[in-house]
Amino acid sequence: MSGKFLVINAGSSSLKFALYVMPEGTLIVNGYIEKIGNLDSFYTLKWNEKKEEKRKQIENHTEALQTMFKELLEKQFIKDISEIQGIGHRVLHGGEFYSNSVIIDDKVLQNIKSLTKLGPLHHPGEIAGIESMKKLMPDVPQVAVFDTAFHQTMPQENFMYAVPIEWYRDNSVRKYGFHGTSHKYITESMQEHFKKKDVNLIICHIGSGASICAVKDGKCHNTTMGLTPLDGLVMGTRCGTIDSSVIEYICKERNLSVEEVNHILNKNSGLLGIAGKNDFRDIEELANNGDEMAQLAIKMLRKSIVNFIAQYFVELNGELDAIVFTAGIGENAITLRADIINSISNALGVELDSNANNSVASFKDKKSGVISTIHSKFQVIVMPTNEEYMILKDTFELSQQLKEKDIPKSYFIKK
Ligand code: ADP
Repeated sequence: MSGKFLVINAGSSSLKFALYVMPEGTLIVNGYIEKIGNLDSFYTLKWNEKKEEKRKQIENHTEALQTMFKELLEKQFIKDISEIQGIGHRVLHGGEFYSNSVIIDDKVLQNIKSLTKLGPLHHPGEIAGIESMKKLMPDVPQVAVFDTAFHQTMPQENFMYAVPIEWYRDNSVRKYGFHGTSHKYITESMQEHFKKKDVNLIICHIGSGASICAVKDGKCHNTTMGLTPLDGLVMGTRCGTIDSSVIEYICKERNLSVEEVNHILNKNSGLLGIAGKNDFRDIEELANNGDEMAQLAIKMLRKSIVNFIAQYFVELNGELDAIVFTAGIGENAITLRADIINSISNALGVELDSNANNSVASFKDKKSGVISTIHSKFQVIVMPTNEEYMILKDTFELSQQLKEKDIPKSYFIKK
């Protein structure tokens, strides 16, 4: 089924979209609507070599989608909305319901709604996106691609917390993991690279948000994020793993509510909390100019990455095909990558190829490549992630399957 497919990634106050022609996978246009709900909301459109930015007050996600369609039609990227054959949504939380992407029907939508308590910032915007599309084009398949799905293969001892079992049974408290779409993309790319399905990997997705995933035999075995994306590594603005008693203690000490502390741990902690900046390029610049807190923040990030690599290396019994670095920092921060590999070099039997490392980044000619020497027991690889491609691929494949099965065209009960 060739045609145009939309990919939608709704954040709490933003909406990214991209329109593709499939099966070619050609990008027609992409857009980014920011500050939804604020007076100063604006959006950017990019197509061919062109870029356009417009200021427009956009109240909510439904209005954001209306703005998107208006632009798509006005600029003739589509002549009519009937040209759209499928819509893929990035959905934060699939809970224990989903270990793969699915066509959204009433039951799926109901399940996504029931998971709003686990994704309170993201799910309302995502649900608004799905419902607006459902109203506008009820006969076009919509696909949910969950950030948690890839991690559903974790063994129970890896995803359980040692809290009263009722918290798991009655309240769904457990480790879910996030960035699953990225970890899956890298896993599939490594399966191609090593020409085998049962790859063992430690994938370091280090962007503003960051997580590491241990992949055993091509499946997620463990990951650093937990019930929410707050857990695990030191991140741009998130604290990562801390003693949970900090919360009650600091509430009392600074007269803050639990909600306020939770907000601070998510938005004002991590690199920002220590160095006063959350963009890694700014922190590197400060550190190079002698700023001690920036230097400390980088050391803390490095240490948290090294500690999880060491833990997962042991969990994988030392049988590793590759450590892979991806996302903004992983793909670009050459010095940090070198420091990490040099810290584990002796213990894990890996050697950095400095020349190779120095030549791979998005601002260099080579954007991916092996950065370890042939004397290493496993490879270290830099590989750009591509979550959007995964959403597009699943949306296309599932829409195709529906067509082949000739399932009736309506996925929602018409009211
Ligand atoms: P997210 O998708 O979670 O917003 P990204 O994967 O886009 O995050 O990564 C953003 C991070 O990547 C920022 O901290 C940014 O500073 C960092 N980054 C981007 N380019 C470079 C670079 N050339 N050197 C070092 N860090 C970089």
